[in-house]
Amino acid sequence: MTMDDIDHVAVLGAGNMGHGITEVVALAGYDVTMRDVETEFVNEGYENIEWSLQKLHESGRLEELPDEVLARIETTVDLEAVVSDADLVIEAAPEDLDLKREIFADLDEYAPDGAILASNTSSLPITDIAAATDRPESVVGTHFFNPPVKMDLVEVIYGERTSEETAETAQAFVESIDKTPIYVRKDVHGFVVNNVLGPFGEEAAWMVSEGVAEIREADATMVHERGYPMGPFELGDLTGIDVSYRVRAEAGRPVPPILQSKVDAGELGRKTGKGYYDYENGDGVDYTPEDASEDFDWLRIEARILNEAAKLIDDDVATPEAIDTGLRLGAGFPEGPCRRADEVGLDAVLEKLDELYEAYGEDRYEASPYLRDLVEAGRTGKTTGAGFYQYAETDGGTDADESGVFHEIEVGDTDVTDGRTITEADVANFAGVSGDFNHIHMDEERMRESIFGERIAHGMLVLSAATGLIWQYRSIEMRDSVVAFYGLDDLRFRKPVYIGDTIHVEMEVVETTPRPEGAGNGTVTFALEIKNQRDEVVISCEMTSLLE
Ligand code: NAD
Repeated sequence: MTMDDIDHVAVLGAGNMGHGITEVVALAGYDVTMRDVETEFVNEGYENIEWSLQKLHESGRLEELPDEVLARIETTVDLEAVVSDADLVIEAAPEDLDLKREIFADLDEYAPDGAILASNTSSLPITDIAAATDRPESVVGTHFFNPPVKMDLVEVIYGERTSEETAETAQAFVESIDKTPIYVRKDVHGFVVNNVLGPFGEEAAWMVSEGVAEIREADATMVHERGYPMGPFELGDLTGIDVSYRVRAEAGRPVPPILQSKVDAGELGRKTGKGYYDYENGDGVDYTPEDASEDFDWLRIEARILNEAAKLIDDDVATPEAIDTGLRLGAGFPEGPCRRADEVGLDAVLEKLDELYEAYGEDRYEASPYLRDLVEAGRTGKTTGAGFYQYAETDGGTDADESGVFHEIEVGDTDVTDGRTITEADVANFAGVSGDFNHIHMDEERMRESIFGERIAHGMLVLSAATGLIWQYRSIEMRDSVVAFYGLDDLRFRKPVYIGDTIHVEMEVVETTPRPEGAGNGTVTFALEIKNQRDEVVISCEMTSLLE
């Protein structure tokens, strides 16, 4: 089975995840059938999809009408009928190994040869689920995040016997539904994101249990000083304190006393009205930026997070890139833990772990040998030119080709492009290509009467025009040396551009990363400011390209 063979998808389960997965698969244009055990559950799931599509439609985020998407979705309670012509089955039934094994045994019986059999389990071993079939090579984990419509990440997990072809097809399928896959190459408990995220809440709970930190201080420092989207205790209340408790207790790991006392008191978080914060008789999450403190030892938390990441890299479970992508997209981290540790300094991280290990003697502080090896090899992060990643300042042992434009570019290089006027013809052409005939760009009469007073050139059109200018980066001839466009970050549309405005781009190289293997010599990240004729910034962003 390859990607081209996937037409019909079956989703098993119409609950929280099942209906969301069905929706994103249908949104991407596939025919999908959603199955649950009772008509009532299927109908409920279908209504949830209708509601969500309507919301997307109202906010202008749907290219089709909701009914057109719904036309691709069928529902049923008949397992045999739904899977007998499915090219891909995604199981999203309750988290119970026996139940999942029963389902996969049925799939083995009814699904066509070669179909991909995927499970959305968040914690059960794919290998054990696959063992219920006679075709474990076709079984793979596809771990979506909640809610699937909003969350961009999917972990693609190899069971012990998952074939390369199955995993690659699953990965390509995930890309085809506009999600970002990361490979989890071994079936480890918690996969990548939950594993690496674990110490975020746990270490904070140890610190509060020991009396070396306060709850609000921890949350405020991690959010306001370290940039996380939520504090560890705020997150614990949201996901349920009993959930973190169970994960630790079941794995036979020590439980921080504060977690134990909350579970004993039945104060499990938002769902019970009280957890670390009081949602019924108090103000709920009420920390403020002033609660942040310089005394709070955030490195204790980040060092443990990084240590989990290093163990996964050492065990060939995931690459630093996959871990960083996973934590950014799956947990909202401001940057990946490996990238961040390279900035903090791997020597400082190791020192913190060694200090904690010496003080407590607990396994959780034992530094990963991989981290120690990096530090001993002098790869302590960005300042030395290499850590988990390679940086431009040193060749760090890379054997990349020393010729090519990449090696001529340095961090701090700047340039200003020529100008270009956005014309009527640009707008008409762009509307034709993108299919976006929005009246803001197209309807002159109507826009004259609007608050803008003039028509506006589509923001993406302006960005494309600017990219065209950049390829002619004048101090270095980039035009023939770009191997691939790698990404766009921090994109902000700051001011409207009117038809007739002239834009130019001011650019600065902010990062260069050599690639020792594969195509191209390395990636270059530029900070861009696209400005109008009045020198006002209209768009800012960071753009990364792979260069010869
Ligand atoms: P849920 O309880 O909301 O939904 C499960 C649905 O499966 C129910 O409607 C149930 O009737 C149905 N079901 C039971 N037996 C079935 C069968 N034999 N065939 C088809 N459907 C069956 O659960 P959920 O939150 O959607 O979780 C589903 C799976 O996704 C679990 O494995 C869970 O661990 C995983 N997951 C959940 C989340 C989350 O945040 N909820 C995130 C990622 C992964």
